[in-house]
Amino acid sequence: MPHLVRENLFIGNITDAVEILENGSATVTHILSVLSSASISFFSEYKKGLAIPTKEIKTVYADGGSGDDSSASSVGGKVVYLVEYAGKDLKLVRMGVPIRDMESENLLDSLEVCLDFIDQSRKQGSVLVHCFAGVSRSAAVITAYLMRAEQLSQEDALGSLRQSCEFVCPNDGFLNQLKMYEEMGFKVDHASPIYKSFRLKILGESYYRGDKIDSSKFGADPGLPSDVTSQVESPPNGGKTGTSAFRCKKCRRLVAVQDNVVDHIPGQGETSFEWRKRKSSNSNNPEDSECSSIFVEPLKWMTAVEEGAMEGKLSCAHCDARLGYFNWSGIQCSCGSWITPAFQLHRSRVDTSSI
Ligand SMILES: [Zn+2]
Ligand SMILES: [Zn+2]
Repeated sequence: MPHLVRENLFIGNITDAVEILENGSATVTHILSVLSSASISFFSEYKKGLAIPTKEIKTVYADGGSGDDSSASSVGGKVVYLVEYAGKDLKLVRMGVPIRDMESENLLDSLEVCLDFIDQSRKQGSVLVHCFAGVSRSAAVITAYLMRAEQLSQEDALGSLRQSCEFVCPNDGFLNQLKMYEEMGFKVDHASPIYKSFRLKILGESYYRGDKIDSSKFGADPGLPSDVTSQVESPPNGGKTGTSAFRCKKCRRLVAVQDNVVDHIPGQGETSFEWRKRKSSNSNNPEDSECSSIFVEPLKWMTAVEEGAMEGKLSCAHCDARLGYFNWSGIQCSCGSWITPAFQLHRSRVDTSSI
């Protein structure tokens, strides 16, 4: 049986979802499925012979493509989420978001689409949020929802959810990400050093798993005209002026902006992901530190990184001058800190200016 968490909001497992998809429900109008596959076919694998009618509303792919006209243009791309009518008489609206119950799984990037769906569904009816067991994934999503909706800490939101459903237990990776979500102010802030460190960590894990590293996961090249335009349209740090730009010393090509920098605390060992220890926002001013290197997220001009090597040179995309080095297993900054993985620009090879 699904558990009521708030008015019009239920948590459940796959059996609860199957029951509603097969037989309909007097209360539930919307279903959010967080399973390893977004597809409805997952349910027929779970229960043999089960055929649930569906009609596609929208499918969004990782490459930015959208299949709401059922065009085949994005076939093969990874599904980020799908929305469809489902069940008897196609009365239910179901969103499927593929999330595996693993500590290394990137929950943050799927979070806001889930929370927005829950918000919308509660206005129109009642929503069941379910995963396979109703213990980890669905609980993580609902915890985030309660955090955002009621401005609760991760601990308080989970505690509140446990009053409705005592056995919920998001995995430790999800709990960490929910903590980041709290520290980012209940939003997934792509400009936040917390988010940037997280993305880099995920990318590093993906490299070590042997996944192909393609530049779609890299940051936009600030040196390309279209990317410069987008920088102007949505300036980093909410339009704050005085943000830094880094240019190749030899040819003046723009190679990075402050927004691309992944901060570390000078001289504190392997601290690249211990962002919680960061003192004040002043510490991200490059002029204040004695570090000889600037560490950035991987950027689209770093073609050497795409070739798959563990380490290599980073050269200017315009004049080929050596700018720095990358190493998936980490590089030690002159201050003593280890940054892992590291995409390093030598301060002596770039000019720093203000935009
Ligand atoms: Zn340093
Ligand atoms: Zn250059």
